[in-house]
Amino acid sequence: MDKKTVRDVEVAGKKVMVRCDFNVPIDDRGNITDDTRIVASLPTIEFLLERGAKVILMSHLGRPKGKVDDKFSLRPVARRLAELLDTEVLMADDVVGEDARQKASILKQGQVMLLENVRFHKEETENDPGFAKKLAEMADVFVNDAFGAAHRAHASTAGITAFLPAVAGFLIEKELKALGQALQDPARPFTAILGGAKVSGKIGVISNLLDRVDNLLIGGGMSYTFFKAKGLNVGNSLLEEDYIETAAAALEAAKRKGVNLVLPSDVVVASSFDNDADHYTVDAEGIPDDYMGLDIGEKTIGVYRDIILKSATVVWNGPMGAFEMPTFARGTREIADAMSRCGGTPIVGGGDSAAAVSQMGYEDKMTHVSTGGGASLEFLEGKELPGIASLLNK
Ligand code: ADP
Ligand code: MG
Repeated sequence: MDKKTVRDVEVAGKKVMVRCDFNVPIDDRGNITDDTRIVASLPTIEFLLERGAKVILMSHLGRPKGKVDDKFSLRPVARRLAELLDTEVLMADDVVGEDARQKASILKQGQVMLLENVRFHKEETENDPGFAKKLAEMADVFVNDAFGAAHRAHASTAGITAFLPAVAGFLIEKELKALGQALQDPARPFTAILGGAKVSGKIGVISNLLDRVDNLLIGGGMSYTFFKAKGLNVGNSLLEEDYIETAAAALEAAKRKGVNLVLPSDVVVASSFDNDADHYTVDAEGIPDDYMGLDIGEKTIGVYRDIILKSATVVWNGPMGAFEMPTFARGTREIADAMSRCGGTPIVGGGDSAAAVSQMGYEDKMTHVSTGGGASLEFLEGKELPGIASLLNK
């Protein structure tokens, strides 16, 4: 990685402001229902505390639209964090106001404080330099560890780097290592599996990966736009008329670049988008008019498994079917299972894909499951992430 990290800066006795991704689900009673993102931030925080830093944490939570809104307070996060760190976490009443500045000014070595939700100020998402400067004034060093927000050029992710020496935390380092290695110097064969709802959301990923992979396996809702491009009937399946040509061009490009692009040879079709709908498996050529494809079929699973098991690097984004319904989750589970057995480096990116993998119990069997949905997608598209580009180079 060519970016400086927390290992490369002097932090003892310094006020170190860490941008975390504490955007966790919180229920009506203020309970955090999934603390994965808080847990993921611990290595950086613990490292800084051990090195004698004064640690100031900040994050966004939900979309409070630039206004103070108690529903989006980070207080529950401070409580959970205190339990996990087994130390007191001082909670500021505001972001850059009197209370935050006061608490920051008297913070001691080895102490941790958390600012309120940075999105209580509309200046955050506007990447307002004045707001970024106010944040920066509370600290001596900036650490970005919010991979999930790194694709946004906001004041707390990018703007602040104009005012403080800025380095990466361990979570960002881990993400860049895993995803960056796959894109830049993958062990081969390199296979990408792309699924999910739509071609339109993934076309950037498709084109970037076509220059890098040996195999590209397509599944999920986006398959049907590819089917249409090949002149197949897709019935009531998800179809993006405007992207039929794009899909055709991708098929052409794959041929030209020598990429083995594989479409499902059979699919599970259903009479409606319903777990209990009438359903059966048909060949790709045989989708009935009033049915919709909701999963990949048995034959396809076999073909994809074989390719995955022979691969040294596998990057997966996008479920193979409407996996939220158990009836149509099989393809997604089988791909997760094959990846867990591939012996190479299986990497999962994308919000719903990561959710599927963790829900199905395969998370620990992957080399890497990205914590950033949108950010991992933009990374796979080959885009520069503003929250990372702005960090100091080694
Ligand atoms: P990710 O968040 O991992 O990038 P996407 O957001 O692109 O993935 O796609 C996930 C969604 O795609 C899931 O909600 C899933 O139900 C839906 N999906 C997958 N296959 C189909 C299909 N054949 N028809 C309709 N929806 C599908
Ligand atoms: Mg999604």
